[in-house]
Amino acid sequence: AEERENLTWELFGSASRELAREVAADGFVPDLILSIARGGLFVAGALGYALDVKNLHVMNVEFYTGVDQRLDLPVMLPPVPNVVDLTHKKVLVADDVADTGATLKLVRDFCADHVADVRCAVVYEKPASTVKCEYVWKRTDRWINFPWSVLPPVVERAGQVLDA
Ligand code: 5GP
Repeated sequence: AEERENLTWELFGSASRELAREVAADGFVPDLILSIARGGLFVAGALGYALDVKNLHVMNVEFYTGVDQRLDLPVMLPPVPNVVDLTHKKVLVADDVADTGATLKLVRDFCADHVADVRCAVVYEKPASTVKCEYVWKRTDRWINFPWSVLPPVVERAGQVLDA
């Protein structure tokens, strides 16, 4: 039986606090946090409070499957952050998990030419990730259930609200 990594809301609370402590212990004081929607929004919000950073930005990255392509590649969707907002800044990129690392690589590369420093904070990092994150709460090679995506979306049907 394949074991899953189950992150509860409760555990996320302490995980994000510990992640913030790693950043602070390293002496890194970010000017802004760049979250990767959607999972990274939770991490960025928690780190924003824990590190007293109010300057939060969002980047939307989704995997695109080309019609005749074997490989999925991540693409940026709107809102794309304004480069002017990032220029010469110390940026902390926040996401839920680095799996292949392709998402974080895209974001890092987007920042690289403009920012003073870019570092990545994730709750989980998997061993195959091409991006080695500076701040990681836990390493795993399992599939992770996140509290924000483990339940199906809620839908309304004939006046009743249901789990899809
Ligand atoms: P990447 O492969 O680019 O590092 O990760 C892309 C995205 O795949 C992640 O941001 C996340 O949304 C999703 N993902 C990768 N591994 C897992 C996992 O173990 N559990 C869940 N729920 N999503 C994952």
